[in-house]
Amino acid sequence: MADKFDVIVIGAGPGGYVAAIRAAQMGLKTACVEKWIGKEGKVVFGGTCLNVGCIPSKALLEASHKFIEAKHDFAGMGIQTGDVQMDVKKMIARKDTIVKNLTGGIAGLFKANGVTGIEGTGKVVGAKKVEVTGLDGKATTYEAENIIIAAGSVPVEIPPTPLTDDIIVDSTGALEFTEAPKRLGVIGAGVIGLELGSVWNRLGSEVTVLEAMDSFLPMVDAAIAKETQKLLKKQGLDIKLGARVTGSEVKGQEVIVKYTDGDGDQEMTFDKLIVCVGRKPYTKGVIADGLGIDLDERGFIHVDDQCRTSVPGVYAIGDCVRGPMLAHKASEEGVMVADIIAGHKAEMNYDAIPNVIYTFPEVAWVGLTEQEAKAKGIEVKVGSFPFAASGRAMANNATEGQAKIVADAETDRVLGMHIVGQHAGEMIAQGVIALEFGSSAEDLALTCYAHPTMSEAVHEAALAVDGHAIHMANRKKRK
Ligand code: FAD
Ligand code: AMP
Repeated sequence: MADKFDVIVIGAGPGGYVAAIRAAQMGLKTACVEKWIGKEGKVVFGGTCLNVGCIPSKALLEASHKFIEAKHDFAGMGIQTGDVQMDVKKMIARKDTIVKNLTGGIAGLFKANGVTGIEGTGKVVGAKKVEVTGLDGKATTYEAENIIIAAGSVPVEIPPTPLTDDIIVDSTGALEFTEAPKRLGVIGAGVIGLELGSVWNRLGSEVTVLEAMDSFLPMVDAAIAKETQKLLKKQGLDIKLGARVTGSEVKGQEVIVKYTDGDGDQEMTFDKLIVCVGRKPYTKGVIADGLGIDLDERGFIHVDDQCRTSVPGVYAIGDCVRGPMLAHKASEEGVMVADIIAGHKAEMNYDAIPNVIYTFPEVAWVGLTEQEAKAKGIEVKVGSFPFAASGRAMANNATEGQAKIVADAETDRVLGMHIVGQHAGEMIAQGVIALEFGSSAEDLALTCYAHPTMSEAVHEAALAVDGHAIHMANRKKRK
């Protein structure tokens, strides 16, 4: 038997590495096991988020957006450029450098906090035992008072479109194209599909998004989803709703995709196809048989509100358990569980987790949509403000979109905030804080916002809840 720890975390994604650092900060002897092999052939920490998720996708989104600005918007600001070109290989290399710096940074944080990083594949083999199979195939068993499973998730694959080496790819493959494909198909108009479709559309691909559902972004407030759909269409994304992909055939360097829509069977030919139909929990080989750690019918590890599994001392967090598959949700769960293990009271507010889609403009929301609130039988009042009426948005060349606040008609309490606009992902923090502190729309309306900022649209939306917006004509009668 090797070393004994207070806590062993399996997986070093944003759930696991944050849990490990927090546990060590709480004075617990902590180890974190990771098996991810990075591009340089060595084990790297950071999980999906840092290696092939949040960060690399944002690196490409930022670069491709700057390319569009340089190509189309600079001239209107008086900036003269020559023929603007994108060096895709350089863009990908920059992304790789960011990933390398960040994953290396986690190793540094482990060292600084006294977390033992263990390279290999971890498996829970007993309530207090973790077996790690190293890269050399040698197994070592560690003892741990507490175990946190943070094994994450992997992309869903569907039988009609089996992945190939370089034509039919998942989100990971779509971060590695060396040039913009001429015709690009994307299956799934979810968050990842829209982000990756945007990157390559900006770089010149003709992008078609095939989405099985009839509605666009059904989890987003209807007014915001409608405006987003219009804006993405204007940018050239051809989003086909009600189009269910049923088959594919790779022929030479192209793929014929078959789908059915309201008009019957259809097909389209693409040079590359990205399959973005969701992610599923990854629990393969993480838990030995017969331990009594339950999975639900969708394969998630079953946990209670505080991430306890059915076996005392064993916790599970992040993408491998219920709830939104988001890095910040995983991290918050990591902190909560580390605090509980350290003997503190801790809980999470699952009703105040923000969501962001990093298209341009960004889409961000927190709390209830107007439709969800009404479906719950809550009488609501709503305030919206268009960025077209914002001085800062005009100066920024970003007048598209709106901010919207949903409040309880009786109590004025903020129930949800919904934004489509430049920097929506930054602005939504205001909505999260409003929900966390049980703020009223009036609280936001009485707050002094810096001028000129994009956030003033949130202020005006709060004022508009009671028909008091200053910089637009109010629809409602003032009291
Ligand atoms: P992961 O990050 O998946 O980490 C799990 C880790 O566990 C992995 O490193 C894996 O190798 C390791 N592991 C698994 N089994 C074992 C084992 N047996 N032994 C040792 N190690 C093991 N979320 C956001 O919030 N914002 C975004 O902008 C965003 N963009 C995304 C873009 C893309 C393209 C993708 C794919 C995802 C994106 N996500 C985003 C989702 C986000 O990446 C995940 O929600 C997040 O990484 C989940 O964290 P996690 O720690 O639960 O799991
Ligand atoms: P998300 O779960 O947000 O990543 O989104 C994945 C999207 O893929 C969902 O909107 C699904 O409806 C969509 N989807 C899943 N299977 C298919 C399919 N066979 N054809 C088209 N769209 C699909």
